[in-house]
Amino acid sequence: MPNKQTTCADDWEPSVLSVAEARNKILENIQPITGIEKLALRSCLQRFLAEDIFSPIAVPSHANSAMDGYAIAAADLPTQEARRYEVIDTCFAGAPSDKVCKPGQVIRIMTGGLIPHGTDTVIMQEQVKLNDDGSVLIKPGHKAGQNVRQAGEDIPLNSKVLGKGHQVNMADLGILASLGIGELQVYRRPRVAFFSTGDELRSIGEPLAEGEIYDSNRYTLYAMLKQLDVEILDMGVVEDKPDAMKTAFLEAAKMADIVITSGGVSVGEADYIKPTLEALGDIDFWKIRMKPGRPLTFGKLHDARFFGLPGNPVAVMVTFLQFVQPAIYRLASGKSKASIKLKAKSQSKLYKRPGRYEFQRGIFQQDENGDLVVKRTGMQGSGILTSMSIANCFILLDEKCAGIEKGDMVEIQPFTGSI
Ligand code: AMP
Ligand code: MG
Repeated sequence: MPNKQTTCADDWEPSVLSVAEARNKILENIQPITGIEKLALRSCLQRFLAEDIFSPIAVPSHANSAMDGYAIAAADLPTQEARRYEVIDTCFAGAPSDKVCKPGQVIRIMTGGLIPHGTDTVIMQEQVKLNDDGSVLIKPGHKAGQNVRQAGEDIPLNSKVLGKGHQVNMADLGILASLGIGELQVYRRPRVAFFSTGDELRSIGEPLAEGEIYDSNRYTLYAMLKQLDVEILDMGVVEDKPDAMKTAFLEAAKMADIVITSGGVSVGEADYIKPTLEALGDIDFWKIRMKPGRPLTFGKLHDARFFGLPGNPVAVMVTFLQFVQPAIYRLASGKSKASIKLKAKSQSKLYKRPGRYEFQRGIFQQDENGDLVVKRTGMQGSGILTSMSIANCFILLDEKCAGIEKGDMVEIQPFTGSI
């Protein structure tokens, strides 16, 4: 067509997917890992349990004192006026008393000490008056059973403590240790292989000829994968040559659950990846109504799932965080997790045309009233990696949005670790 100008209306063509459609298509195609391994407790942090965990013991195993004080029988508590009690023994955590308390007697007890025979109540030492002869004076007003941690109060014997599929967190390590459990069955970690494509790419340490650039995507990919609990396989730079790519794709697919490449999927690029991939697997080439990150390739490469991310450094990070990260989570857990989105007042005027969903980079913080405010990080080009470096969130501008005025509310998506 003569004089056809590219407009944002092109983005509405039916073959172009929305961000949500692309994410859903990806997630539908991810089967959770079924491989199981047995690991020592500490190594299970962040892993997903492959078994239900039942308590082999009660926690606490015996009734014990929550305070330093005096153990007494509730039936022997003073009711009308202060009474004097004989202190017949002292009981420490780990060193129980073998004495039996009779009426008129108490046992000095430390926090964690087992509740002695003949007692069921503890009186804080601060509420007791010590007499010169070693006896104590106790006033009325105490409740039966106070300051005692009952056996099984935290975890009863044989109860289900953690369910299959649960992600082991910081507190869980402590809980499992308190049950004396030293090994667990967990699902193996996802294995993720990645490489960069492009004849212009050089590795650190090599000199740059004219037109060449250092490969930075492998480093941001490494960094983003490092935040997740995955096995990372960095396969280096692969030349823009069909044979080299074919070998690299096959090798990666053999080793990994997910294979990621960056570069070479944009339209108009000396496009070797497309025919090579089409010959190897069941791969779709998508255009997505988003900015940055319009071209994305997704599909099956033997048993692995394949992501062909765009080459531009910011587009790599955006598409990884929006598509690959949820896929890795589904692979590891069998579940989906919606990312946290917050509302903030924009301190910048934001330029945008309707048509695409934009992930602008922002810095959010609390203002003096405690309200969230966000400003953009300057130049937003998909090659401007510094816009990501100083950002702590994406500013999410949906397809219909035609720009934001200073003072408007916008939706933001904090980066992992920024809140
Ligand atoms: P492509 O998608 O291969 O057309 O690449 C788009 C842009 O991203 C080009 O300017 C590439 O030079 C650049 N690029 C591609 N791969 C990388 C990489 N690994 N590191 C840094 N820039 C890259
Ligand atoms: Mg390229």
